[in-house]
Amino acid sequence: MFKLQPHSIRFKLIASLLAVSLFIGLLSLLVGGNLLYQSVLDEVNNRIRQDLNVAKVIYEGRTGSVRTALEITVSAPGFYAMAASGGPAEALRDINPLFRNLKLDFFGIVDVRRLCPGNPKNPGGPAGLNPLAAYVLKHRKGVSGTIVMTPEQLAHEAPALGDRADIRPLPARQDGMVGGNQEGRTGAGLPGLAIGAAVPIMKDGCMAGIIYGGFLLNGDTAIVDKINETVFENEVYKGRNLGTATIFYRDLRIATNVTDADGNRALGTTASPEVSRTVLEKGQRWTDRAKVLDDWYITAYEPITDIGGRRVGMFYVGVLEAKYRDVREKALAVFAAITLAGMAIAMGLGWLFTGRIMRPVSHLIRASAEISGGNFSPDIGPISKDDIGLLQKKFLSMTRALKRREHRQQVESQIQLIQSEKQASVGKLAAGVAHEINNPLTAVLTFTHLILRRKDLAQEVRSDLEIVAAQTERVRRIVKSLLDFSRQSALAPESTDLNRLISDTVRLMKNQALIKGIDLSFHRDDRLSPLTLDRNQFQSVLINIILNALDATGSGGKIELSVNPNSSEKGGAVIRISDTGCGIPPEHINRLFDPFFTTKDVGKGTGLGLAVSAGVIQRHGGTVKVRSAVGEGSTFIIRLPEKPAEKKTRER
Ligand code: ADP
Repeated sequence: MFKLQPHSIRFKLIASLLAVSLFIGLLSLLVGGNLLYQSVLDEVNNRIRQDLNVAKVIYEGRTGSVRTALEITVSAPGFYAMAASGGPAEALRDINPLFRNLKLDFFGIVDVRRLCPGNPKNPGGPAGLNPLAAYVLKHRKGVSGTIVMTPEQLAHEAPALGDRADIRPLPARQDGMVGGNQEGRTGAGLPGLAIGAAVPIMKDGCMAGIIYGGFLLNGDTAIVDKINETVFENEVYKGRNLGTATIFYRDLRIATNVTDADGNRALGTTASPEVSRTVLEKGQRWTDRAKVLDDWYITAYEPITDIGGRRVGMFYVGVLEAKYRDVREKALAVFAAITLAGMAIAMGLGWLFTGRIMRPVSHLIRASAEISGGNFSPDIGPISKDDIGLLQKKFLSMTRALKRREHRQQVESQIQLIQSEKQASVGKLAAGVAHEINNPLTAVLTFTHLILRRKDLAQEVRSDLEIVAAQTERVRRIVKSLLDFSRQSALAPESTDLNRLISDTVRLMKNQALIKGIDLSFHRDDRLSPLTLDRNQFQSVLINIILNALDATGSGGKIELSVNPNSSEKGGAVIRISDTGCGIPPEHINRLFDPFFTTKDVGKGTGLGLAVSAGVIQRHGGTVKVRSAVGEGSTFIIRLPEKPAEKKTRER
C-alpha cells in the first residue's frame, strides 16, 4: 500500500487534481457568482422601474377618481338647486355615494360671482383660493393632479390639515438624510402636497361656480400602503418591508412606508442631494442602489409635477437589496460547496486512480527486490493493458534474460568446477604415475642406447632395438606432458605487449602453415594497453591452439587470430582464434578440455594440450570458450583480465 508522501506520484497526482478543481471552482465562484448577481440586479432594476410605473398609475388613479366623483356629483339632478340655495357643502357631498366614500381631506364649492374684485363676500380674493379652483377659474375647464397648498390655504380648508402638513424635521443623520427642508416654510408651518380635482359648475352655458376636492398627501398613508399592497403584496423580508414607497414634497419625505428601527414611519427625512439634483433639478428618473435609513435598497425616483407643470416633489419605490444579496450569498455558498465537493471527489478519484495505476508499479518494485534477493521468477501481478503493461512485459523479458544468464553461468561454473576437479585428480594421478614410470623408463632408454653402441649386433636385433628406443622416447615425451599437466607450474607474470606476443607466435607457426597451404593471419588492436601475464606459458597455450587448428584445417583454409575483435575491452583483452577447419561435433565440445581427450590417431595426440592450456588460462583469471560448427570451422575465445588474480598464481 502506498503512503501519501510529498514526493510520491500519488501525492503529486492528487495535488494536481486538487489544484485544478480549486482553480476551476474559484473561477466559477468569482465569474459565475458575479454574473449571477449582475443578472439578478438587472432583473431587480427592471422590476423596480415597472413597480414605479404601477405606483404612478395608482397615484394618478386616485386623482382621477376624485375628478370622476366630482363630475358625477355636478351632473346629478337637483345639484344646482341645492348649491344655489347656499346650503352646507357637506350636504352636497351626500348627493353622490361615490363622493361620500372617497373621504376627501378637503372639499368646497366656490361661487364664482363672489370672487369678483370688490365683492364683500370674497374671503380673501383669488389669493386665498384653492389652487385647483384657481386653475379652473383661470382655464375654465376641469382639472385633476398635484398641487402645493400654502399653510394658509390648508388652514382655510380645515385647521387640522395645517397641523398634519407640518411634519417635524428629524435630527441630521450620518447617511445624509437630514432633517426636513425648511424651504417654503412660513411661521404658520410647512406647505402641503395634495392631489385632487376641480370641475366647473355650469349654468346656462356660463360658469356659475367651481366644485373641488382632494387629499392632503402629508402624513397620508393610503397611497403608499396601497402601493405596498398592490406592487409588493406587503411582503416582509427579515422583519423589514421588502418593498417601500415614498412621496416627497420637494426632497422631504411626507408620506412613506419606510420605517425606522423602532418601526415608525420615517417622515421628516430627506433624500440624498444627488437624488434631489437629478430628479428635482434635472427632472430625470433616478435608478440605483441607495441607503435608506439603515438598509440598502434598489431604488427608483421620479419627479412629481403639479398642475402648473412645476416639479414639486418626488415619487419613490425601492426593494430591499438584502434579499437579492442573500440570493448571491446563497449562490456563492452553493458554488463553494460544489467546489469543495469537486475537490473531495478529485481527491477520492485521485486516490483510486493512483491506487490502480500504482498497484502494478508496487508489484514491480517488490519483484525487483526479489530479483536482487536471487528469485528470478517473481510475481509481478496481472499485466495491465496500459503503458505500465509495456513496462511489465519488458520487466518480464528482463527477468527471463537474467534467469537464462544465471542458468548459463551456473552451468558454466559447474563445468569449470568439474573440469578443475578432474584436472586436479588426474593431475595427482599423472604426477604419481609419471614419477614412477620416469625412472624405469630412463633405465630402459639408457640401456637400449648402450646396447645399440655395440658393433656385434645383428642387423635385425639393431632395428628392433631402435624401435624400442623410439617408442620409449615417445613414452618419455608423454610422461613429460603428464608432468607438465600435473605440475601446473607457478606463473611468472610480467607486463606484456599482447599484440607483440601473438605476432611473434604467429611468425613461429607461419612455416608450418605455409607447408600445409593454410593462410595464417593476425589482426592487432593498436589501442590495447599492456597486460600482466606469464609470457612463456601463455605462448604455449597459443601454440597449442594454433597447432590444433592446423591439424583440423585442410589446404586452402584460413586461421585468423585477432585481439579485441569487436571493441576495446576495458581492463583486459579478448583473443579470438578461428579456423575454417573440420569443426567439432557438439558431443565433443564439453569434453574438449578433459585430460586425455583426443580424436587424433595413437601417437599423434595425447589429449593433454587443451587441458594444460585451460589450466594456464584459468590461473591467469581468464576463461576460454569454444564455438564450432561441423564442416565450417571452430573459434576459440580467450578472455584475459588486465592482471591475474593473486590466488591463481599459486602453485597447486
Ligand atoms: P590433442 O591435440 O593431443 O588431441 P588437445 O587437448 O590439444 O589434444 O585436443 C583435444 C581434441 O580437441 C583434439 O584431439 C581435437 O579432436 C579437438 N580439437 C582441438 N582443436 C580443434 C580444432 N581447432 N578443430 C577441430 N578439433 C579440434
